[in-house]
Amino acid sequence: MARRFFASPRLIAFAVLVLLLLTVGRPVLHLVSTAWHDADERQVAPPGTVDDASRLNRTRVAEIVDVDRERAEEQLAELLDRARRDGLGVSIAGARHSMGGHSIHPDGITINMLPFDAMELDAARGLLRVGSGALWSDVIPFLDAAGWSVAVMQSNKSFTVGGSLSVNCHGWQYGRPPIASTVESFRLMKADGAVVRCSRTENPELFSLALGGYGLFGIILEVDLRVVPNRPYRLTTDVVPATEALATYHERVGGAAGTAMVYARMNVDPDHFLDDVILSVLVEEDGPVEGLPPLSEQGLVGLRRTIFRGSAESDYGKKLRWTAETQLSSPGGETVFSRNQLLNEPVEVYANRSADSTDILHEYFVPEASIAGFIDGLRRIIPEEGGNLLNVTVRHIEEDTDTFLRYADRPMLSLVMLFHQERTDAGEAAMEKLTRRLIDAALAAGGRHYLPYRLHATPEQFHRAYPMAREFFRRKREHDPDGLFRNQFHTKYGGADVGSQED
Ligand SMILES: Cc1cc2nc3c(=O)[nH]c(=O)nc-3n(C[C@H](O)[C@H](O)[C@H](O)COP(=O)(O)OP(=O)(O)OC[C@H]3O[C@@H](n4cnc5c(N)ncnc54)[C@H](O)[C@@H]3O)c2cc1C
Repeated sequence: MARRFFASPRLIAFAVLVLLLLTVGRPVLHLVSTAWHDADERQVAPPGTVDDASRLNRTRVAEIVDVDRERAEEQLAELLDRARRDGLGVSIAGARHSMGGHSIHPDGITINMLPFDAMELDAARGLLRVGSGALWSDVIPFLDAAGWSVAVMQSNKSFTVGGSLSVNCHGWQYGRPPIASTVESFRLMKADGAVVRCSRTENPELFSLALGGYGLFGIILEVDLRVVPNRPYRLTTDVVPATEALATYHERVGGAAGTAMVYARMNVDPDHFLDDVILSVLVEEDGPVEGLPPLSEQGLVGLRRTIFRGSAESDYGKKLRWTAETQLSSPGGETVFSRNQLLNEPVEVYANRSADSTDILHEYFVPEASIAGFIDGLRRIIPEEGGNLLNVTVRHIEEDTDTFLRYADRPMLSLVMLFHQERTDAGEAAMEKLTRRLIDAALAAGGRHYLPYRLHATPEQFHRAYPMAREFFRRKREHDPDGLFRNQFHTKYGGADVGSQED
């Protein structure tokens, strides 16, 4: 009896240890191994070459010219003159987070806009005057110090104002069209070196062409952006089956006046692929902004990165990440954040640093009525093509009435997807095939793909998605008859052969 009495706590301790090892040991081992292998193997592009965020576009260029902030206009006008005389193409680069060579032209001149980053706030009018090379990571603290915030931007802060305007970015700000809607005016250096102001009343055609114009109509200089007050937002999260997500979303945003930001994240665990959704809704709080904690860098960066990177090449890692995200999102729980804190997220936290692989973004815009059918298509196509999906978020975008080459020609839901791929020809070929099938699915759903990513769409798909593109490129030739502003997006979809088909 006595022996049994003493043996049983040992047995219990052993059982607890086994249970602990099973529940804690595997995740700990997985995370430690991920962190151990997470070395930064990225190489700096050799002198005379440039690349972009895809790390698949290393290209030789004739020159890389940093804008001289003090004499930018004179310098750039001279540069355009020289490029014309020497027959060189000119491409414009911000933070180079586009992924299809949109900021690159082979053997041309690349203008680095980053030094062009001055800022001035006109608080009385709620306008920020900002150089197009400024990064959101500089703009956010500048505005925060004065109690203001960016009205529309991406979900990360690592981009320039000029690059954001030129793709007409959007974010998870609820009830908002893309960023063009927040632009009061900007100054544009045209191909002939002349500088004009563009707004809805001054040079309105150039306003609508250069916003979302991928650097093909001129160099955007200073921008007057409408800004909004920084406010406290209360977060509510729900974890629901995908079939209930739209109803929950409408219930949440319908029931709360002052919904400010919304996004949904879907489960990418292959055993529950796109079956569940974490819905995050942020509603503006009453009360002063003064009580909010000061702007800080995001916390737990190392752990968040390791959990994310650990999901890249491991189905177990994907499960673990979903568990962590659903637990951390504290279903039913609520927390208050400042708007600026929510915008203050760098892309670096999750960036792929491996020499062998890269992560590639896709985005598809689909009207709400066809989203369920589109997601059914994703559930089928992505596994069939062996796509390794790391992340998918869903956002809502209002109709864009400002830009010419517009993706939101009516209110849209957008699916932003991050895929993992090998940096090999086989990896490229597989991604191209997958992308073309997904674009066809988006087109069949009455939607289209977003343009700043890989140029895998065929010209035929591109023109079906953007029927106004032929006219866009015709006007490009009118405004830039020597074809000075060039990049790989233009070469693929707006080149002379594409032009000749339309005439
Ligand atoms: C991790 C990641 C997350 C992203 N998230 C989002 C998101 O949430 N929402 C979204 O909408 N997009 C998103 N994007 C896409 C992003 O908005 C675009 O790639 C954007 O262009 C990045 O800005 P950039 O400064 O890197 O521009 P670049 O890549 O440097 O340039 C993009 C285009 O703008 C042109 N350009 C740049 N500066 C100027 C200028 N001053 N004058 C004229 N033309 C100019 C370039 O020639 C080029 O054609 C994301 C991209 C990545 C890599």
